[in-house]
Amino acid sequence: MGSVLPPDNHVHSQWSWDAPAAASMARGCEQALAAGLPAVAFTDHLDFTVPADGDRIAEENIEPRPYAWMRSLDVAGYLASVQECRERYPELRIWSGAEIGEAHLWEASAAAVVATGGFERVLGSVHAVPFGGRLRAIDDLFPLMPAGDVMRRYFAEVVRLIEGSGIFGVLAHLDFARRMWPRSAPAYRERDFEEEYRAVLAALAASDRVLEVNTKSPLVSAELVGWWREAGGKAVSFGSDAHQPWRVGDKFKLAVDVVEAAGFRAGRDRFDFWRRGQGGQGGLGG
Ligand SMILES: [Zn+2]
Ligand SMILES: [Zn+2]
Repeated sequence: MGSVLPPDNHVHSQWSWDAPAAASMARGCEQALAAGLPAVAFTDHLDFTVPADGDRIAEENIEPRPYAWMRSLDVAGYLASVQECRERYPELRIWSGAEIGEAHLWEASAAAVVATGGFERVLGSVHAVPFGGRLRAIDDLFPLMPAGDVMRRYFAEVVRLIEGSGIFGVLAHLDFARRMWPRSAPAYRERDFEEEYRAVLAALAASDRVLEVNTKSPLVSAELVGWWREAGGKAVSFGSDAHQPWRVGDKFKLAVDVVEAAGFRAGRDRFDFWRRGQGGQGGLGG
């Protein structure tokens, strides 16, 4: 124990619409091997811009596109790349996957792609929230209202995602909006949003899904992972959210320490999620 790093279950490659030119699935694999990771999941963005029949975004009359340059995933091209990397790096376990944005608003569209893609790791994310009849990127909201209000809207939308979509197995970056927390605002404190975090964690635990610890976001605290444990959460996934190969596995040692301090341990084998330990070890009180 201790030196075994978990899989990186959240990595982007050149197939993500927001990836820079330097992104490369093959180089991401090389970085995973260099970092000593047993496995990597390429969870490229699966975002939609045009509603299909049955998508809630159309029923609720929300204008859909927060970024003009957003484009849909080329599933066939992506899958061919995964296959190529599996042949080239047999010593690394490589999972296919997708990070679906606002799946509760795009459930029909997402279901159609997931059915054909056969993805092994499906992450659920909120990157944008409906406001004023449009899906708005989080960074657009901070100038419009107090920072705490943006966070509360964000957390409320994450609860709607969890309750409104069963298509994903791992909740990605549960406090993504925190990345954009304005420098002019008082320092961010998780405890100011404890109630909102706990609502998200309770909903996620009730649906028996997995919480991601995201190392691109400001790293969550052991206290927060402890709230996950107290909510009944059973498993933790680690994700670098790398959009450039050098970030694969970034800050994983630190993240492992945080998750261990909250009472979670490596799972069945080195490919598994981390699981809550037995007994009270590492528990943070109630
Ligand atoms: Zn994301
Ligand atoms: Zn991501």
